[in-house]
Amino acid sequence: MKRKDFFKGLAFGTLSLPLIIRGLGGKTTGQKQEAGFNINSGKTYQWNMVTTWPPNFPVLGEGCQLFADWVEKLSGGRLKIKVYGGGELVPALEAFDTVRSGAAQIGSGAAYYWAGKLPAAQFFASVPFGMNAQQLNAWVLGGGGMELWEKLYADFNLVPMLGGNTGVQMGGWFNREINSLDDLKGLKMRMPGLGGKVLEKAGGSSVLIPGGELFTALERGVIDATEWIGPYHDYKMGFYQIADYYYAPGWHEPGTALEFFVNKEIFDQLPGDLQQMLRSVSQQLNVWMLSEFETQNAIFLDKLVQEENVQLKFFNQDILDQLRIYTRETLAEITDNDPISKRVLEAYDAFRRKAGFWSSISEERYFQQLQQRYQVN
Ligand code: CA
Repeated sequence: MKRKDFFKGLAFGTLSLPLIIRGLGGKTTGQKQEAGFNINSGKTYQWNMVTTWPPNFPVLGEGCQLFADWVEKLSGGRLKIKVYGGGELVPALEAFDTVRSGAAQIGSGAAYYWAGKLPAAQFFASVPFGMNAQQLNAWVLGGGGMELWEKLYADFNLVPMLGGNTGVQMGGWFNREINSLDDLKGLKMRMPGLGGKVLEKAGGSSVLIPGGELFTALERGVIDATEWIGPYHDYKMGFYQIADYYYAPGWHEPGTALEFFVNKEIFDQLPGDLQQMLRSVSQQLNVWMLSEFETQNAIFLDKLVQEENVQLKFFNQDILDQLRIYTRETLAEITDNDPISKRVLEAYDAFRRKAGFWSSISEERYFQQLQQRYQVN
């Protein structure tokens, strides 16, 4: 079949897909292929995915396995991905360098884990008082964020893709009430990343403790408080058994994006249809994950409050206003020392301001209205 006829067949829908594939088969071997039309390639790929999550970690680890399953099915088995939990193949936080070097082909994590080697990366995960999931998706996918992210990662021989979002996280579990900034002074809290730096400006100390040791640390008073993710994961950690108050909102992580990163040389050599498949499946997972978080968090917040009588508390406006000021100081310290961060944060902030204005008259007004309805019912 001539290529002209192939297009004609597609346009008028006169050929079934198997016919198209058979029609192209055999004639294309050794010919230069236009990206996206080499679906007859018999070559198969066996990849390893290194992740920063414990094996089978709810939602985040499960999502990686779903991603691998979908890619294998859609590619008819041409691209198989074996998923490894953090520590199974390499330590969790070596995933970035492992994929960069090509020792594994693809990885899963959150971009703020790489802030030590690439400070600007964290703006593609979460920024305290920054964009929520909806806004961050909009910036990355529609507002120019992806171009910046790709440039940033290209220098590390990686191709980034969105791989989910936690939505707004919770503020954490506390054994004392936080009524003023003074209550944060001397507070020992598990709070990684930018949020931890902000907490330290407020006089607290941020302590890094692996997830597996958190329950005991909080129970024994090694720390006074901890943040984790949201109701679903927090319930599974059992924090409600040992902490008095559950605070909202998670100002420090208002919608943390998860990512996939693929070795760029390996990605560039893939047939065009498999490249597009990876991008499309990452989007499918992006939607799946946010939906899964929203669903499970709703179910488990209800359980925590109704069955476990957890006391919900909210940081007051004075506290949040001051933490926001400390956040701007923290961000300025990063961008003052790193021109790339400055450029990325400027783009992030420009979009955040516009999106914030729109959200304030759309989502925010709608939720205010909704809230009043909940209260009367
Ligand atoms: Ca968190």
